[in-house]
Amino acid sequence: MTTVVRRVGFSAGHRVWGHEHECSNVHGHNYEVYFHATAEHLDDVGRVIDFRILKQRLGGWIERHWDHGFICHEADAEVRDALATIAGQKLFLLPGNPTAENLASYLLREVGPRELAGTGVRLVRVVLWETPNCFAEVSL
Ligand SMILES: [Zn+2]
Repeated sequence: MTTVVRRVGFSAGHRVWGHEHECSNVHGHNYEVYFHATAEHLDDVGRVIDFRILKQRLGGWIERHWDHGFICHEADAEVRDALATIAGQKLFLLPGNPTAENLASYLLREVGPRELAGTGVRLVRVVLWETPNCFAEVSL
């Protein structure tokens, strides 16, 4: 199996609802995501997929929904209501806490299949760095 990896960086705010320590504060990170993609066969040019397409489709989704926005647990009414008072605030409601683990899983299981539909390529792993010291890795 041949796998290609495309890196996408973004900045976003979050808080980990119910966290025992400082992560329950509203704060942000400069994230790095590594999308691992594979295909049954290489194309006529010898590629899994043009890296540019991964950037356009996966990076484009991140840019529209997460970059320079706030990612909020959909049940975190306190933050949701507070941000609703800011006109035009970019807010993404995630069905779970916006931990590195859950963000990586959402990209792998929800965003990847949707955004790569029709390309013949599928994501097999997402590695998401939250800080230079910490990352989560989710694989199919
Ligand atoms: Zn954090």
